[in-house]
Amino acid sequence: MRLIILTLAVLFLFVTPANAGVVWDSAEFSEERWGQIAGFRPCGGEIIYKWGDLPESALGSALFYRRADREEFGVVCEVTLQASQKSRLYADPQLLCSVILHEVGHLTGRAHSSNPNSIMHFRFRVDERCRNI
Ligand SMILES: [Zn+2]
Repeated sequence: MRLIILTLAVLFLFVTPANAGVVWDSAEFSEERWGQIAGFRPCGGEIIYKWGDLPESALGSALFYRRADREEFGVVCEVTLQASQKSRLYADPQLLCSVILHEVGHLTGRAHSSNPNSIMHFRFRVDERCRNI
């Protein structure tokens, strides 16, 4: 029993930060990419990333609030990742990064695209640029 608890503790200490690191790396990569394309970082780079319960078919969602007195997008920016898909997303960093890349695109004000090669296409796709995450 003690060994199981110790194993779980070790897993928690060493696996969790590594997984969280994938989210962090993907976030940084996505914010930088979109910063270059859009000419600004949504919410000045202050994006909240969290896990949450989303509609079954969704892997992620983006939410921003915009202040009426300001032109730029995003005063509060949130990316929610599908909690029920956490282990799938952690197991596939390229997929996780692609979800974040798509959602940060929304935070720059981009809607869904009908271009099947676009990361903003409404049917989700894995992006090549996330290969080395
Ligand atoms: Zn979308």
